Amino acid sequence: MIAVESFRGRNVALFGLGGSGLATARALVAGGASVVAWDDAEASREAAKAIEGVQVASLAEIDWKAVAVLVLAPGVPLTHPEPHWTVKAAQAAHVPILGDVELFARERRERGRGAPFVAVTGTNGKSTTTALIDHLIRSAGGDAQMGGNIGRAALSLDDFAPGKTYVVECSSFQIDLAPSIDPTVGILTNLSPDHLDRHGTMEAYAAIKERMVEAARTAVVGVDDALSEKVADLIASEGHEVVRISASRRLADGVFADGSRIVAAAGGVETVVADLAGVGSLRGRHNAQNACAAVAACRALGLSEAAIAAGLATFPGLAHRMETVGRRGRVLFVNDSKATNADSTAQALASFDRIHWIVGGKPKAGGIASLDGFFPKIAKAYLIGVSSDDFAATLEGHVPFERAGTIERALELAAAEAAADGADEPVVLLSPASASYDQFKNFEVRGDHFRKLVRALDGVAIPGGDGA
Ligand code: ADP
Repeated sequence: MIAVESFRGRNVALFGLGGSGLATARALVAGGASVVAWDDAEASREAAKAIEGVQVASLAEIDWKAVAVLVLAPGVPLTHPEPHWTVKAAQAAHVPILGDVELFARERRERGRGAPFVAVTGTNGKSTTTALIDHLIRSAGGDAQMGGNIGRAALSLDDFAPGKTYVVECSSFQIDLAPSIDPTVGILTNLSPDHLDRHGTMEAYAAIKERMVEAARTAVVGVDDALSEKVADLIASEGHEVVRISASRRLADGVFADGSRIVAAAGGVETVVADLAGVGSLRGRHNAQNACAAVAACRALGLSEAAIAAGLATFPGLAHRMETVGRRGRVLFVNDSKATNADSTAQALASFDRIHWIVGGKPKAGGIASLDGFFPKIAKAYLIGVSSDDFAATLEGHVPFERAGTIERALELAAAEAAADGADEPVVLLSPASASYDQFKNFEVRGDHFRKLVRALDGVAIPGGDGA
């Protein structure tokens, strides 16, 4: 744990007691602060009561003038659609509002002995890039501490000590609550409209992410979309060190993907760092972008190219993101349950040539109409969940489909039909392009269920290091 010592002897109000909120409470108490905490859910309040030194009490009744800071969980609205009532109360009393990543950044400055700190943000690819950097550092023999929006909360990471490198995934909400975040390497993978309900406008959303990379010693910025490219140009024009990355074009300076090869270029001189051919966990153009970001970050941290190349070849990948869960003969079984919208599913459909596609659930606006460019690759679609009528209407006349209803039935049909498919490597792909809530608790439960069903099929070989 990283004790937060910057509020020793002072009163801290904490709202939001999920995993990161509880970790924050512990870290503040360990650092000598007086913590009063609240959450609307009783179970969360009970968990906080178990932490010695935390007072659980409604923040509606406290004297805000005596409070040094309000620490807010990233899920609680700071600005949109409307500031949370605790935000209004804190603002009325001129109490600063911060998040756990800000507390981490402050502790690192005060007593972190310059520990390298990689912060990863972007609309897509954050978790993959974060996990990949963690893996590259560890496989090179380093001590990576990975957390933030993935895995452990930032303040639950091991305390600062020589040799540790902190790799922290940051959502835009966490950056919004971290005004002084100053990573050694700040990564912005890409930007597309997302979470606008919480940030108001695209400009506001982009500005939050821009601030993080602008404050980094080395900024690593994707230039495959116009908005991120603008961020790269702007901060370069301010004199900051920027490494541009691209999965779609050559760069004279930066890190780019040329087919399956990851190339680092300086003044037009190119060095091939690694080849991703055969690295199943990094299939697809989107993962080439994530790999470029990770390579650029690790080079900035001083890892050797040989170590980076060796690490890339052994990345196990993350569960539920194009995760290979089994193989039977020529047929590959892939769990892409994390794809809860059409944009994410597009990445998976782009990555394979012959697809038996298990799709559906609680659909998002627009459904799967935007995926029509991939329809020629789809051998057949197996429809599950409440979206079946909608998706059938989109596929009608373009793609053979069957209403399977459940994942069980869909897998049974798809496995049999893929086995009879004459293609070189037919893929049975669960990439629902929909939320899971109609049939499952969340996308993880849906993906775990699919993985279990695949592994129960006769004769399925289970790949090593599948990220499960
Ligand atoms: P995040 O943490 O930003 O949600 P993940 O690494 O968990 O991103 O990937 C989630 C999904 O987003 C993947 O399953 C894939 O469909 C898509 N994705 C991953 N990386 C990228 C990228 N660089 N560009 C576009 N889409 C991506």
